Amino acid sequence: MSVVLVVNSGSSSLKYQLIDVEAGRALANGLIERIGQAEGHVQHRREDAEHGRDTWDTDEEIPDHDAAFKHMLDAFEAHGPSLESHPPVAVGHRVVQGGSRFVEPTVVTDRVKREIEQLEELAPLHNPANLAGIVAAQQAFPDVPHIAVFDTAFHQTLPPAAYTYAIDRELAAKHQVRRYGFHGTSHRFVSRAAAEFLGQPVEELRMIVLHLGNGASACAVSGGRSVETSMGMTPLEGLVMGTRSGDIDPAVLLHLQRVAGLDTDATDKLLNSQSGVLGLSGHRDMRDLVGAFESGDEAATLALEVYTHRIRAYVGAYAAQLGRVDAIAFTAGVGENSPIVREWSLAGLEGFGVELDTDRNRARGSDVRRISTDASRTAVLVVPTNEELEIARQTLAAVEH
Ligand code: AMP
Repeated sequence: MSVVLVVNSGSSSLKYQLIDVEAGRALANGLIERIGQAEGHVQHRREDAEHGRDTWDTDEEIPDHDAAFKHMLDAFEAHGPSLESHPPVAVGHRVVQGGSRFVEPTVVTDRVKREIEQLEELAPLHNPANLAGIVAAQQAFPDVPHIAVFDTAFHQTLPPAAYTYAIDRELAAKHQVRRYGFHGTSHRFVSRAAAEFLGQPVEELRMIVLHLGNGASACAVSGGRSVETSMGMTPLEGLVMGTRSGDIDPAVLLHLQRVAGLDTDATDKLLNSQSGVLGLSGHRDMRDLVGAFESGDEAATLALEVYTHRIRAYVGAYAAQLGRVDAIAFTAGVGENSPIVREWSLAGLEGFGVELDTDRNRARGSDVRRISTDASRTAVLVVPTNEELEIARQTLAAVEH
C-alpha cells in the first residue's frame, strides 16, 4: 500500500487527507480551522471500508501551524488509522502559485522554499500560508520527502499567444505579469478521468473543462495539455464566481476610483469579495441563488443569466481555439450539482453539436456520467473532481521518479 498525506494549508486553516493512492481512496481526512484565533476547531474523520466513517470534533486554542500539525498527529493516534501501520511515504502540499518557475511537482528543498517565498508578490494571500504549512509539516514528518504540487503548473503548457497580456512588454516582464491560470490540479484530474470514461487516450482528445465551484475557471485541454484557461495572473479573471467578478473592463475600475473614491484596497475588496453572484443577487451560494430564482427573485434570475452567459461565451471561444470539441466536462461544487447551470450554460449550442439530454442532466449521481444525448457530437460529462487524489498521485510519481 502506498500512502500519501496531502496537505492544503491556508492562513488560518489546515486541510489534510491520508490517501491510499493505489486504491484511490482516503483513509482519513481532517480540517483544522481558526488557527491563531482564541478558539480553534479540529475535525478528524476516519474512512473505514469495513466500518464506514467516524467523525470527531474538538474546540481548542491552536496558536500556529506547528500546533495544528500536533493536533493532527494526536487525532490520528487517538482515532486512527494509526500512522505506524499506515506510514505516509511522502507528504504532498498544495501550493497555489508556482509562477513560470515550477512546471511540475517538485521535491521541497531549502531553495524551493525560498523560491515559493519569492513568489509571494504574485500570491500574497496564498503562498505564505502554503509555505507555513510546508515548514510545519517538515517538523512533524522529518523523515519523508515533501513534494510541492502547484495549482499553476498544468497551465505552463499555454502558448505565449494565450498567456501574454497586451501591455508594455518590458513592464510586464519586470513584474512577472502574464496569465498563469489556476485550478490546474483539478483540470488535469478531470481531463484524464473524462478520457478514461470515454475509453479514449487523453492524447487524442480535445475538451473543455468547466471547474465551477466557489472559484470558477474554464480550461481548453488539447491532447492532455492545457492550451487556454480563463483565470489569469490571479484567480480573479474569467468566469463569474461566488464573490469574484471575473472579466470586467479595466476602465470600470479607473472610473470608480475617480467618481466613487475607491482606493486600491477597496477596489480589491469590491472585485474579490463583494462581486460575482453575491454582488448581483445577495447570494454567494449557488443553492441559495437557484432557490431565490425559483421563488421569482428578479436579481437572482439576472445573476444566473449573467453567470451562465459568461460560461457559454467561453465555451464558444475555446471551441474556436480547439477547432473541434470532443467533450465538455462539468466539475466542482456547482458543476457537479447544478442541472440548471449546466442546462443554461449550454443552451442553444445544438447547432455546434452540443446536445444535452434533459433527463440525464437532472439525474443525480456521484460518479462520472454522460449528460448529452447519444446523438450529440460533443460528449457532455459530469466528472467529480478529486484534487487531493491528484496531488497524492503526483506526489507519489515525483517520489518514484
Ligand atoms: P467547491 O468550491 O467546489 O467546494 O464548490 C462550492 C460551491 O458549490 C458552493 O458555494 C455551492 O454554491 C455549490 N454547490 C454545492 N452543492 C450544490 C448543489 N447541490 N447545487 C448547487 N450548487 C451547489
